[in-house]
Amino acid sequence: MNISFTPKKKQTYQETQKIENVVILGSGPAGWSAALYAARAELSPLALTGMELGGQVGLTSIIENYPGFPDGIGGPQLGELFQKQAEHFGAQVEFDSATSVDLSKKPFSIKTYSKTIQAKSLIITTGASPVHLNVPGESEFVGKGVSYCATCDGYFFREKKIIVVGGGDSAIEEAIFLTRYASSVTIVHRREELRAGAILQKRARENPKISFVWNSIVKSINGTDKMQSVLLSHVITGKESKVTADGIFIFIGHHPNTQLFAGQLEMTPDAYIVTDSNMMTNVPGVFAAGEVADPVYRQVITSAGMGAAASIQAAKYLEEIE
Ligand code: NAP
Repeated sequence: MNISFTPKKKQTYQETQKIENVVILGSGPAGWSAALYAARAELSPLALTGMELGGQVGLTSIIENYPGFPDGIGGPQLGELFQKQAEHFGAQVEFDSATSVDLSKKPFSIKTYSKTIQAKSLIITTGASPVHLNVPGESEFVGKGVSYCATCDGYFFREKKIIVVGGGDSAIEEAIFLTRYASSVTIVHRREELRAGAILQKRARENPKISFVWNSIVKSINGTDKMQSVLLSHVITGKESKVTADGIFIFIGHHPNTQLFAGQLEMTPDAYIVTDSNMMTNVPGVFAAGEVADPVYRQVITSAGMGAAASIQAAKYLEEIE
């Protein structure tokens, strides 16, 4: 019997590699909104969540200013709802993170911990990370008293003395949250006036567990196997004082997560990605939304809105190039 055998045409790399319509980097409000809108536009977007699922929302105890939740909603819970809604409409979600990107040619190439992805368009929503104090003892005592996340770590400080550093919305909101657990919360702020909004200020001032140390900065965090005290310095008198505490929660702002795109995208001097009013970066087909591109508003609702806008514009861009 003769068996004839037709060799298959050898497929090139380009033919075998799927090219995604839209890849979204990040899983905060901007990322999930972008994924939702792209999914509803039937673009089957691929969302890479990054290593911190939910972004900063996932680290926030309660969100009271996102419309639709009159009694507030827990940050992680809101993140889960965002994800569920995006997936419901067909977003592909992978718990993976980009390790490098090549935006110099099309399709764009995105290397992750597990593979290389090709994409016709990219929406960057990699958010921002907490700023560190950079004082002696800070890195040494992370997980041993030093924390940047009240939702994650507050529970470990039941009936303990806590210091919160910062005077913005995050510091005051999380200080109030921490009073659920702690016996006392001392807010250390470098000025005499808080930056936080009026409602939060009022609540903090009225909370019997909260006290303030004004005009002071942290010089060092000290202890043996875990932190036991903090050395403060008065910014006017220079006088130093030791305050004993079991934990210190640091909320002194955020910096954008843009290292991956350095040299490839236009950025501000503070490393925020520059976009036009269509959320498009200087590379056509690459969009940015949320805190990675927003040094001004940095709210859940504004990030979500930017993500939606980026997705609408990515869909338009795809229509134009095809
Ligand atoms: P932020 O508004 O930038 O406040 C940072 C705070 O840390 C400021 O009080 C600042 O002091 C202090 N600080 C900065 N560097 C410091 C240092 N090296 N040592 C000591 N203190 C330092 O940051 P955020 O509170 O994380 O808020 C970020 C954004 O998210 C804001 O737009 C905020 O409105 C928003 N947000 C909103 C809510 C809400 O609406 N419920 C909740 C959380 C965050 P100075 O005041 O002296 O500059």
